[in-house]
Amino acid sequence: MEALKHKILEAGRVLPGNVLKVDSFINQQIDVELMTAIGQEFADRFADQQIDRILTIESSGIAPAIMAAQALKVPLVFARKRKSLTLSADIYATKLFSYTTQQYTDVMVDKRFIQPGEKVLVIDDFLANGQAVEGLIDILNQAQATLAGVGIVIEKSFQPGRQAIEAKGFRVESLVKIASLDDNQVQFSE
Ligand code: 5GP
Repeated sequence: MEALKHKILEAGRVLPGNVLKVDSFINQQIDVELMTAIGQEFADRFADQQIDRILTIESSGIAPAIMAAQALKVPLVFARKRKSLTLSADIYATKLFSYTTQQYTDVMVDKRFIQPGEKVLVIDDFLANGQAVEGLIDILNQAQATLAGVGIVIEKSFQPGRQAIEAKGFRVESLVKIASLDDNQVQFSE
């Protein structure tokens, strides 16, 4: 997606630890026009799927997911993060290792918001090691819902997330793929 590549080159910043900071247009301030185009691009790429719902994770997945949900005209649910969860019969819960905080976090979705048999599209802002997406897939498995595919705004292709998800037989669509962040430079894959 060319507009997103241009924005990353213009306003993204590379931080230590292979982190790309995009807080001026995705993670804190949001470029709504770009985000609307991102949502439409996900809708176009998954137009061949009968999607019932979108699932993402708070907080930075919500903006792209809401735009995709609007374009696809489906409901959106986001998994909530908690320091520690009191387990309840009413929630699907899983534990994941957060790339940005380097800590384990419990995440949960209320059982009312995913129905068995639904075909669900998972959306997130970044794909690095795949922990966030794998946690969401775990929640879908618990809910006996089906994964329609995974939509990612920015994939860091030099990290193993895509291989891990594809190894489970799932489709990953990334709007931009980054081959390297070495020397504080963003190199795109294609
Ligand atoms: P993963 O779980 O695939 O290792 O990492 C993906 C999650 O970590 C995303 O939900 C995203 O919020 C965060 N993340 C991973 N890498 C980056 C990055 O380079 N920049 C930003 N802003 N977030 C990242």
